[in-house]
Amino acid sequence: MTEFVYQCSNCGKRYRRDEVRYLCPLCARDYRPGIPLIGVLSAQFDYAAIRRKFNKVKPDWNLFSAVEEKFFPPIPVGNTPFFQTAVLGRQFGFDNVWVKNDGLNPSGSLKDRASFLVVAEANRLKETCVVTASTGNAASALAAVCAAARKMAIILVPETAPKAKLAQMILYGARVIPVKGTYDDAFRLSLAYTARRGGLNRNTAYHPLTIEGKKSVGLEILQQNNFKTPDVIMVPVGDGVILGGVFKAFYDAKAAGLIRRLPRLVCVQAESSSAIHHYIVSGMYRNADRPHTIADSISVSVPANAHMARTAVRESGGFSVTVTDEEILKGQRLLAEKAGVFAEPAAAATVAALSKLRNSELLGRKEQIVLLITGHGLKDVDAALAGIRMPVSVEPTMEGITSFPVRV
Ligand SMILES: [Zn+2]
Repeated sequence: MTEFVYQCSNCGKRYRRDEVRYLCPLCARDYRPGIPLIGVLSAQFDYAAIRRKFNKVKPDWNLFSAVEEKFFPPIPVGNTPFFQTAVLGRQFGFDNVWVKNDGLNPSGSLKDRASFLVVAEANRLKETCVVTASTGNAASALAAVCAAARKMAIILVPETAPKAKLAQMILYGARVIPVKGTYDDAFRLSLAYTARRGGLNRNTAYHPLTIEGKKSVGLEILQQNNFKTPDVIMVPVGDGVILGGVFKAFYDAKAAGLIRRLPRLVCVQAESSSAIHHYIVSGMYRNADRPHTIADSISVSVPANAHMARTAVRESGGFSVTVTDEEILKGQRLLAEKAGVFAEPAAAATVAALSKLRNSELLGRKEQIVLLITGHGLKDVDAALAGIRMPVSVEPTMEGITSFPVRV
């Protein structure tokens, strides 16, 4: 760990680490449920100290951590594969497409990174209970990390969350409260829950260490890419926290002198859940009206981290794109067929976006493009089934199997 202060992303005021826990107290006065969070905090490190201590030959990434290593929960998170996928790239006319497969985290999603750091913080603060609202993945992640750290996870999810995610949370031993409502309802209720009953709230962006936890994926990409900044990283976006986390990784690395430029960040949203996309394109914010995408992990009406996400795209020189459910399902199949990666629909949205941009001037043919795969396909098998046709059963004879049409 390195010394840091929290800085408000809205008014710029700085706070000592233990002076605040969630949002900037000044700006949070203007926050009310039903709008994106105001006053999200960002950890600003002593970058000169990191610059002095960091060694690229033997990198100590804990220098970029906002919690001391001694508080880390006993469950390995991260170190997921990063590899070039020439076949998938060629499919769309690009020479240098890479995959960061974060679906291979312990609970099957990138959200494990945020839960890891927030539970480390709970250890530091001696909190025994961590509360979150989630569309599913953040909750599974919190439940997994809390199980390893012997903490109580209290989880509010929309009752429509995919069954595999609900099964995960319950098996990990979390106290799961399905809500007859949306993710936004669950978010609002979880804030009320911790305000009344205590515990540490892990709500995404509301707790600043969710962004810090997710930044580890960007730092890993940097190391796996031999400290070269990729040209472009395509990020599936729901509430905007993963986008904020990836940006923060490269912002920190640049501030510490590890790199000279930021990757262009591409915000990928589902067409029916695209509040951040519209905000980036028009400069005017409005909630998404009744989001109903198959990509449940990025189905959000009121994205908590909309302001920071927009800043991340603008400051990185990136842009935003939307994709339809049909394009997402096609992307999911192509990613599996061409790269051997089974991703959940939200993650496959990046492939759909790459396909959509194949003839665009926004991406260069030879640029290094990274697709951030944020969740495993087994998280939502029903969604995958919507994009394929199941083969018909045959009689258990040689005639039966040889009569079966085989695609070679
Ligand atoms: Zn503020």
